[in-house]
Amino acid sequence: MSLSRRDILAGMGASAVGALAMTSTEKAYAAAHSTVPLQFYGGFASGLRPDQSPPSAAGGSVVWSGLTGKRQVALTFDDGPMPDWTPRVLKALARHDVPATFFLKGINVLRYGTIHRGSVGTHELGNHTWNHPDLARLDYLGCTDQLARTSAIIAQVYGTRPTLFRPPYGHLAGSSLLAAAEQKLTTVLWNVQMNESRFTDKPAGIVASVGNAAQPGSIILGHDTGPRDRLVTIDNLDAIITRLKADGFTFTTVSKLCGLR
Ligand SMILES: [Zn+2]
Repeated sequence: MSLSRRDILAGMGASAVGALAMTSTEKAYAAAHSTVPLQFYGGFASGLRPDQSPPSAAGGSVVWSGLTGKRQVALTFDDGPMPDWTPRVLKALARHDVPATFFLKGINVLRYGTIHRGSVGTHELGNHTWNHPDLARLDYLGCTDQLARTSAIIAQVYGTRPTLFRPPYGHLAGSSLLAAAEQKLTTVLWNVQMNESRFTDKPAGIVASVGNAAQPGSIILGHDTGPRDRLVTIDNLDAIITRLKADGFTFTTVSKLCGLR
């Protein structure tokens, strides 16, 4: 499932038209999230370069899931590496001999990069920006810097450049799509989410929730650090993997699931 840049821009055109007739809920959201106007078009992060020179990439791609008939899924963990939970996640994955994809914050790689030293070759390591800004509100130069610095530190620490990028909060605008495409990064969202905060009081629920939602080709979002309510995922990771295996699923990285290089 991928979109050409033309598709993406066409989709944005449709939502821009939709903005002319905002509902009251949308108006309230817009008021609550209003910010300093960006360089172009008063508040939306444009997909144009500031000097309006042409993009250096012909197009980019965005995936939410893999197009596969096989019962195969990709577990993904965002926001690490951090000493609190990342080692626990790695141990659980190793116990089940399961690969995953980790979307790393550059600043955490700088501080705690050694945690993933043994991951190269087993797990996939992707770019989750330097310090987790909302890229929907960041202009082209800001997005370019966030992605480039993070790819550089990942290359420096692990000897391999990432080819995947996950936007914090799943927030995207023209600027981040353009920056990712120009840096040859595939933008990766997800179609199944570990809804940690819904299951803090009933931990077994997260196993059923993820198990019931998984489909062939699912990209499953989790986190390997963060607020305590997310621990429910880590505490139940063995059970989640066991459930998915019992349902006939095997595990792979996002690049393999989506047939990327
Ligand atoms: Zn994140």
